[in-house]
Order: sequence, then C-alpha cells, then structure tokens
Amino acid sequence: MWYNNILETIGNTPLVKLNKITKDLKGTILAKIETTNPGNSIKDRMALKMIEDAEQAGLLKPGGTIIEGTSGNTGMGLAMAAVVKGYKCIFTTTDKQSKEKVDALRAFGAEVIVCPTNVDPEDPRSYYSVSSRLEREVPNSWKANQYDNPSNAQAHYEQTGPEIWEQTEGKITHLVVGVGTGGTISGAGRYLKEQNPNIKIWGIDTYGSVFKKYKETGIFDKNEIYPYITEGIGEDFLPENVDFSVIDLFEKVTDKDAALMTRELARKEGIFAGNSAGSALAGLIQLKDSLKEDDLVVVIFHDHGSRYMGKMYNEDWLRERGFLEDEKLNAKSILKR
Ligand code: PMP
Repeated sequence: MWYNNILETIGNTPLVKLNKITKDLKGTILAKIETTNPGNSIKDRMALKMIEDAEQAGLLKPGGTIIEGTSGNTGMGLAMAAVVKGYKCIFTTTDKQSKEKVDALRAFGAEVIVCPTNVDPEDPRSYYSVSSRLEREVPNSWKANQYDNPSNAQAHYEQTGPEIWEQTEGKITHLVVGVGTGGTISGAGRYLKEQNPNIKIWGIDTYGSVFKKYKETGIFDKNEIYPYITEGIGEDFLPENVDFSVIDLFEKVTDKDAALMTRELARKEGIFAGNSAGSALAGLIQLKDSLKEDDLVVVIFHDHGSRYMGKMYNEDWLRERGFLEDEKLNAKSILKR
C-alpha cells in the first residue's frame, strides 16, 4: 500500500493522552499531535485546501506563482504542495525570523524575500506591501491570504473537526486551541458545535494580542498591542477567519509560561512540540477549575519542536530573557495553580 504523493499523507493525525503533566487536572486531556503531517504542522491542511480551492475557482492556473507573506508553517505547507503540483512560490518575511525557517522554505525551491521588521505595514518596504505589490506585478500569480481566505477555516471544518469527533467517539467536551489566523479554532469548533452545541471551545491568546479583549467587550483596543515572543498565536488585527461566535472564551498566556510549558512537554511526556502547544496547555491549566472528572478535553499541538531550536530549546535564549533561572520553580507553580 502506498500514497501517490506526499500530499496524500496530510491529516489523520493521532490523539495522544497526556499523563504526567496534567496529573493535577480533572478529566482526560488528549493532545492532537499535528506534527505527524508531512510539513510537521497543522498548516499543511489549510495550505493544500487554499490551493485546491484557488485551482477550482480558476484563480491559480498551471505554472502559476503562489505568493504569501509568511515564514512559518503556512509557507512550508504551500511550498510542499507547490512542488508536487508544479507551482512557483514567492514568500515575503521579516528580518526578525530565524534563518533556519527561511532556509527551510528555500529547501523546497521557494523564493524568500526578507523585508525590514521596523517599518509600518503601509511602508512600501514592509512584507505586507511587498507581497501585495508582487501579486500585482508577477504574471499568473495568486496570493493565498491565509488570514481572510475562507478555505483556511473550511479545511478544519472538513478535516480536523470530524477527525476529533470520530477519534473521541463524540465524547469530546472541550476543544482548546491557540488562535492566530483563527482557521483552526473556527473551522474545527464550528463542526464540533454542530454535532453537540454543549462542547466548549476555548481559544488561547497571548499578552500583546487583541482577541481576548475584543471577545469580552467588542472593543478593538490598540492598547492591548505590544511586542511578544510567542509564535503562531495572537494578532494585532482581527482576521476574517476568527469566528468569535463559536469561541466561548479566550485565555491569555505569558511568553514565559508558554516557553517553559513547551519545554515541560518534551521532558514529562516525550512530546517535542512547538511554542503554541505549550501556550495552549498552559492556558488549559490556568482554566483547570472549570473542568470536571468526566470531561474529555482535546488540545491542539500545532507544530514541531525542531522549529524552535534557537528559541525555547536553547538555554542561551532562555537565559537572555531571564526564563532559565526559575524554570523549575515556574513550571511547578504553573502545574500547581
Ligand atoms: N500555532 C502555530 C505554531 C501556528 O503556526 C499557527 C498559525 N498561525 C497557530 C498556532 C494558530 O493557528 P490558526 O492560524 O489556525 O489560528
């Protein structure tokens, strides 16, 4: 038995019970391990779906060029699918991104244009402006636009949600998801709520992002916005893919708690996951008083630890931020909270 190409191996990721790290929590806590996708992240699902929908709509034509402002997991998914399907890729990113991430995209033959970080989004040099200009100037090109492209959430409505429903035999009571573009939580959450409206959908946000305040007050508060370290989740604007109506609440997690919990996952569960997995789990632990003994909680682990070797898996990086000294103390206190 074989697959016809690597894209056919996307999806059907395992659900794995967490044992030691969640021992003080009521209920059963399961992690949906998205690192077994071929690009090592959940983003493979939506990258392929965005491309397929664009092909069907006639927006992406044979030999065309895919353009996106990304350096991360979406870029990896798009680049991988582009190789198999015969498209070119041009990505714009910022000089704050690690060289490893840019090199990984180049490994798939993608062109990566590195733009300055410290300019306004409207500045012609910003990575937003450059990708928009490329879309206008490059013939036969299509910009994926993951934030506002409905195919993103739809991928999770069609795949991630149904997988979780079937794997838990409909017994899931809570879905916990770090929110960036909003595609994962909105698509999977909408599917699950359609099956059982009592399922709670909890979004994990980060300090420095606007989601929690917006959900609670309806106000887009610019004072909530400041630089943060956590990758993949939180935003300084409201992407169209965030469907606030399916999300019951947002919980914010600090950069430090997210980083240290990510490290704990490798050490306590043997799961080498990315930064947002630690965030989501730390957020769930903050909310543990809302859990009951018979709850069945699914937490999404979006990507793989290898993408963070220069960050939370690097002791110098931790030390520079003052995260290392009290690693043990802090991890214990999070678990006890
Ligand atoms: N974690 C990581 C590592 C991600 O790359 C992303 C995507 N930005 C997310 C979480 C959030 O997923 P979504 O964009 O579907 O909200």
